[in-house]
Amino acid sequence: MENDHEVERRRLLERLRRRTDVSDRTLSAIESVPRHEFVPEGRRSAAYDDRPLPIGHDQTISAPHMVAIMADLIDVDHGDRVLEIGTGCGYHAAVVAELVGPGNVYSVEYVSDLAEQARERLSKLGYDVEVRVGDGREGLPEEAPYDATYLTCAAANGIPDPLVDGTRPGGRVVAPVGGGRSQRLVRLIVGEDGDHEREDHGGVRFVPLQ
Ligand code: SAH
Repeated sequence: MENDHEVERRRLLERLRRRTDVSDRTLSAIESVPRHEFVPEGRRSAAYDDRPLPIGHDQTISAPHMVAIMADLIDVDHGDRVLEIGTGCGYHAAVVAELVGPGNVYSVEYVSDLAEQARERLSKLGYDVEVRVGDGREGLPEEAPYDATYLTCAAANGIPDPLVDGTRPGGRVVAPVGGGRSQRLVRLIVGEDGDHEREDHGGVRFVPLQ
């Protein structure tokens, strides 16, 4: 019988539930996504450990608690439109798609091979996520405005302007900002006329924006 990783998944959920800072909505989204389908076959036994895992091309899938924290910070409802920069294996996008529903998540990936694999995997698992190859620094203006934008790679020189410009006033931009070991998780609440509210959500470690 194929291993559906139910026991490990339940254990991960219990672990995340003990964190008081993750919402029930996000927990259910994480519970619905088969994380083992997103990691390389040789890593499946570790798929539900709460840590990052390599996904090839020197890139990593973020730890589940980090995906959960960011999913809460973008603060989305069903029907909201979201732009993700850094598709990677597509796991994070699938969690967000659980929150906003089909056809509402757009994701830009720099490495065409990763984009292609993520696109196939997401579609096989029934997630309607639009994956584009490109430089996420430029955003995806043709589908803007977004209710929320987030980066899964660190912006050393601050959040690129096109990403903020593509997010509607009142919308959220969540990103690791900074270089090396001094990255901070930042949330901007986009204001009118460049008047944004900026929050610091602590130290993080992400791969850099290429
Ligand atoms: N959300 C992903 C995490 C991927 S790691 C997941 O769940 O697996 C970060 C990703 O950002 C990598 O796949 C990397 O190739 C991509 N990336 C780095 N620089 C980028 C850029 N300028 N534009 C788009 N994607 C980029």
